[in-house]
Amino acid sequence: MEHLIRDHIPGKKRIVVKIGSSSLQHEETGDLDYIRLDVLVRELCNLKNQGKDVALVTSGAIAQGKKAVKIGAEEMDGNPIAVKQACAAIGQARLMMTYQKIFAEYDQVAAQILMTRHTVDNDMNRVNAQNTFEELFRLGVIPIVNENDTVATHEIEFGDNDTLSAVVASMIGADLLILLSDIDGLYTDDPHQNPQARFIETVEKLDDNFLQMGKSSTGSRVGTGGMSTKLIAARIATKSGADMIIANSSDIRILHRIMDGRNYGTLFMADKDDSFSLSRFIDGIHTEPEGK
Ligand code: GLU
Repeated sequence: MEHLIRDHIPGKKRIVVKIGSSSLQHEETGDLDYIRLDVLVRELCNLKNQGKDVALVTSGAIAQGKKAVKIGAEEMDGNPIAVKQACAAIGQARLMMTYQKIFAEYDQVAAQILMTRHTVDNDMNRVNAQNTFEELFRLGVIPIVNENDTVATHEIEFGDNDTLSAVVASMIGADLLILLSDIDGLYTDDPHQNPQARFIETVEKLDDNFLQMGKSSTGSRVGTGGMSTKLIAARIATKSGADMIIANSSDIRILHRIMDGRNYGTLFMADKDDSFSLSRFIDGIHTEPEGK
C-alpha cells in the first residue's frame, strides 16, 4: 500500500531541496563537511540530468560567517543583529564559492537568489522573482536560495529556511519539496524526549491533529528550524499543490532513494487549495524578534 502511495514520486518534474546548517557541517568543529556537500551536489546534478528542474534552499551563511571570523557565542551578546548580519554577509559568499566549485565539477551552472518576505508580499518583487526562476530553469541553471540575512530585519524576515523553501516551492509551482533534516520525519511526539513516539510515514491531510505534533526543537545546536516550522512548510507546500517529504540527511544519498519512490521519511501529500494565498499566509506567520 505504502509503495503505491510513492509510485508518483519518480515522475516529479520540479523539485526544491532544502538543507539546514547542521547537515552541512561537522558537529565537532562547525567546519563544512565537504563529503556531504559533494554528495548533495552530485544528487542534485543527477536529478537535473534526468531532465528535472531543481532548486536548492541552503542555510549555513551565518554559521560559516561566524566560523570564518572566529565569532563565539559570547560575541553574539551586545549587538546580535549586526553581528549576525555581518556573519551572513561573510558566510553567504563563502558558502556560494564552495557550491560553485562543486557544481562546476559536475559541469552544472548554479545561481544565487536571496529573498526576504518582501519578495512575496510585494507583487512586483514576487513576479520578478518568479520570472527569474523560470528563466534560470529555461537556461538549465540550478538556483541556490537563501534568506537575504544581511538586510532582513524582523519585519521582513522569514527567520527559517523551512518556511522559505516552501515559499519557493509555492512561487515556482514545484511539485515536490524535500526537507533534509536531522530527524527521520514526523513522529507523534518528540522522539528525543518520548521513547513511545511513533513514526508517521504518510500524512494524507494535514489537519489540526498533525499540527499539534510540531515541537519547537530538533535537538540540533545550529539552524533555526524545528518541527513546527516544518509543519508550516508542509501547510504552504501541500496547499500550493506540492508533495513534501521530510527526510534524514545523515546519508544524503537518501535523495535518489526517495526519487525512486522508496519509503523514506514522512510524505505530506499535496492537497491543493485554490483559495490559498501565499502572501496572506506569510503575513499571518508570527516571527520571533531578531537576535534569538
Ligand atoms: N538563513 C540562515 C543562514 O543561512 C539560516 C536559517 C535557518 O537555519 O533556517 O545562516
